[in-house]
Amino acid sequence: MEIKRIKMTKLFEILFPKYIWRIKTSEKKIYLTFDDGPIPEVTEWVLAELKKFGAKATFFCVGENIENNPAVFEKIIKSGHAIGNHTYNHLKGWETDDESYLNNFSFCQYAIEKNNLSHSLLFRPPYGRIKKSQAKEILKSHKIVMWSVLTKDYDVKFSPEECLKRTINKTKPGSIVLFHDSLKAEKNMKYVLPNFLKHFYDLGYEFEVIN
Ligand SMILES: [Zn+2]
Repeated sequence: MEIKRIKMTKLFEILFPKYIWRIKTSEKKIYLTFDDGPIPEVTEWVLAELKKFGAKATFFCVGENIENNPAVFEKIIKSGHAIGNHTYNHLKGWETDDESYLNNFSFCQYAIEKNNLSHSLLFRPPYGRIKKSQAKEILKSHKIVMWSVLTKDYDVKFSPEECLKRTINKTKPGSIVLFHDSLKAEKNMKYVLPNFLKHFYDLGYEFEVIN
């Protein structure tokens, strides 16, 4: 099962070479990403945890959440983290026509730029699902960032301990690790993140933004 999954990740990298799956480095660097915020209940907590370890991360924000929580969004930027576009309404690309999808992508970009002077040129498709025709347009301006380690923090089938163990086991230099600053993932994430940070910090790793 484990071998199969590794092969699948490799397969995705071969099938979709234009997307970023990991950062090629042998240095002790990890690229943390947080999807679906910003929301005050969870994002503020994440920022405080990252700060304890001097860790920087990339937040793939939902436009609607930026509009509803501009102060939290601003706090992410002021803390030196990077921002990415995650559509305005968290759309599934496979089930959405191209025009609606690209408009939704643009609405999110507008929300980001309205609140943030620097341009964000990163995009992550919700659920990792995007049609090639949609990606082709977005790639004209943005990098499409996927992930190499899925924490499954949202998955209630995993206990927080299991979630931590599998996340640590899969992480290596250059890994892009996917967490969620969402209510759904809160329980596992709040256990996994501080323990994950401590584990790799003690091994001499640094946590950097994707750019
Ligand atoms: Zn998402």
